[in-house]
Amino acid sequence: MSAPTLDTSVYLERVRRVQAAMDEHDVDAALISVGHDLPYLTGYTAMPLERLTMLVVPRDGDASLLIPGLEAARVAEQPGVFDLVPWGETDDPTDIAARLAGGARRIAIGDQMWARFLVEMLPRLPGVEFTRAVEVVGALRRTKDQAEIEALAEAGAAVDLIAGELQRGEIPLVGRTEAEVSDHLGRRIIEEGHEKVNFAIVAAGENASSPHHHAGDRVIRDNEIVLCDFGGTMNGYCSDTTRCVFTGEIAADVAEAYAVLHEAQAAGVAAATVGTPCEDVDRATRRVIADAGYGEFFIHRTGHGIGLEEHEDPYIVEGNDLPLDVGHAFSIEPGIYVPGKWGMRLEDIAVATVDGPVLLNNSDHDLISV
Ligand code: ZN
Ligand code: ZN
Ligand code: ZN
Repeated sequence: MSAPTLDTSVYLERVRRVQAAMDEHDVDAALISVGHDLPYLTGYTAMPLERLTMLVVPRDGDASLLIPGLEAARVAEQPGVFDLVPWGETDDPTDIAARLAGGARRIAIGDQMWARFLVEMLPRLPGVEFTRAVEVVGALRRTKDQAEIEALAEAGAAVDLIAGELQRGEIPLVGRTEAEVSDHLGRRIIEEGHEKVNFAIVAAGENASSPHHHAGDRVIRDNEIVLCDFGGTMNGYCSDTTRCVFTGEIAADVAEAYAVLHEAQAAGVAAATVGTPCEDVDRATRRVIADAGYGEFFIHRTGHGIGLEEHEDPYIVEGNDLPLDVGHAFSIEPGIYVPGKWGMRLEDIAVATVDGPVLLNNSDHDLISV
């Protein structure tokens, strides 16, 4: 499923802004194939198959949407945004794409374009310099407009309802396998209005020390931590939240670490103001965890941008000095993982605004005994 089709004027404006960025970054053509830039710019989601679909955006003038002829009927035309260029079964689409980009000296390529198409196109574009399309689409994509923020907020509120059920003990845990609980979360994600489940990580006890643990046959027992990280796509936009619960009276070592985690996550949120470099948000969470002696157990970045994709720009990580700007939406999700024992993470989506960060996830932040 894809984002709802918007007014043609929205796409026109987005393509115009991409062309302005191309001018600024000295890019002559942008080639956008499968992935999320295409629906963002055209409203059209390509079938991720072996037939080439590609939006060719020149620095000046009209864009062309190169599309397998048999899929042309799927495209909702957006007058002025692109010209539809259907290709037939015996045509060579990479040749057509190379011709549409003809004369370009510097070309931006979408991250998710299949390598085979680039490999086929390279000999047809001798002397061309390539760059990533994120250079000309990235700034636009990571700055969400009001409608996009509302979509993210709606998806966030839906997973918050499910987190609340988990915390109130309404989702049975003890005696079920992680996989059964994961299925339960997935079902609820759909029932609450998402069109798609993106993931439902359920990790019990020692399994929670692997941040991206795949829910399996492990039966959940009494007196252990259960980490649940889940999200889906609603109206084209993603949700993503993590909450942990404890099946019984919370063990002292876990309670102690969780208090640190809670404080670290709050410090990350507090730091996420407009103008703050992304890496400073990472440093804010990390400092709290390191000061408490758990530094070696926080083994991933603090967060990632979110929008049409679960993980996108801006990444909240050391080395990213990009300042947060109004409309940036991203996760703040520090974790502490003690191998073989337990793990914990606390994750909210935040949006940067002039009045400070606004959280799109608001279920209880405590470690709750269920
Ligand atoms: Zn993740
Ligand atoms: Zn998550
Ligand atoms: Zn996340």
